[in-house]
Amino acid sequence: MVQIIDVRVPGRLPTYTTGSKKGKVRAYRGRRDPGDIDRLCVHHLGPHLSAEPRARQTYEERAVQRARAQPYHVWVQPGIVVLMWDFLVATWHGNGANRRSVGLVVAGRFPALADRYDLKVHDRAEDYIESLDAAMARVATELPGIKLVVTHSQYSAKPADPGESIARAAARIGGALGMRTAPDLSAGTGSPWPAQWRRP
Ligand SMILES: [Zn+2]
Repeated sequence: MVQIIDVRVPGRLPTYTTGSKKGKVRAYRGRRDPGDIDRLCVHHLGPHLSAEPRARQTYEERAVQRARAQPYHVWVQPGIVVLMWDFLVATWHGNGANRRSVGLVVAGRFPALADRYDLKVHDRAEDYIESLDAAMARVATELPGIKLVVTHSQYSAKPADPGESIARAAARIGGALGMRTAPDLSAGTGSPWPAQWRRP
């Protein structure tokens, strides 16, 4: 079962909106119209960030704490989805996709899965597929205008953001929700989807 934790506050911006980007979460100040949002931008946050709860902290509290430090609207980890930022706030998560997209991240790393964890293949979709499914269904319900699933790699020179298994899982789940992919799309320093991602 997937727990959806909704900590959004309407209109609330991340901590920081102007100036140096380093270590801060940025967003545009103006709210957008739901009709301006037509895509879901999928990310993978690397396995270097521990999901292990700190002292006197639950797994859920740790998830919210981690999500708050990041610009993604939707935070996905095994068993938990955090809805972090108001979808009408355009956070800086996806370069050229920022203004038109909701940012969804599959967040590593999962100590409970450490024995099964291969750091070279750090995008094991099967560990969080239920959460991704629940998260994308929620986005589709709230924003039925989203018809496209894109990856951050299409907007920035980050070919593993996300990796193949996350991209494939998002494409498959999105397909069932009426969202298509645009594998040839690229903008800025991004790249179209590699050929192997497109094979069934
Ligand atoms: Zn990203």
